[in-house]
Amino acid sequence: MKSEIVRLEVSTAAREQFIDVTARVQQALTTMGARDGVITVFVPHTTAGVTINENADPDVVHDILLALEKAVPDQRQFRHGEGNSTAHVKSSLMGPSLQVLVQNGRLVLGTWQGIYFCEFDGPRNRKLLVQASID
Ligand code: ZN
Repeated sequence: MKSEIVRLEVSTAAREQFIDVTARVQQALTTMGARDGVITVFVPHTTAGVTINENADPDVVHDILLALEKAVPDQRQFRHGEGNSTAHVKSSLMGPSLQVLVQNGRLVLGTWQGIYFCEFDGPRNRKLLVQASID
């Protein structure tokens, strides 16, 4: 069994933004020839994350960002000198990685699910890693 990693570039256009990367992750596993198993999607950043949620109604992403804004307001007591502590907290809430099942070379996702790169301190050029173990 060999392990392969594909590195994707993700350019974000706003301070906070969810970008649907489902098709690009699917392309990556097609490129790797992953047929069955599990892939890992990993974000190597401390102010971004990755999550799976609805990609049918864009209002869902709007509402998640709004809820995160309400849940993680800027605090006078924050110490981090860079001034982007809310982005670090939101990054940890979403998490740096997730696993997705793969069957017959296709991502196994629910009808309304998509994979989102979550930007919390953009706009920036970001990386997204997709790793698969291949027989
Ligand atoms: Zn920082």
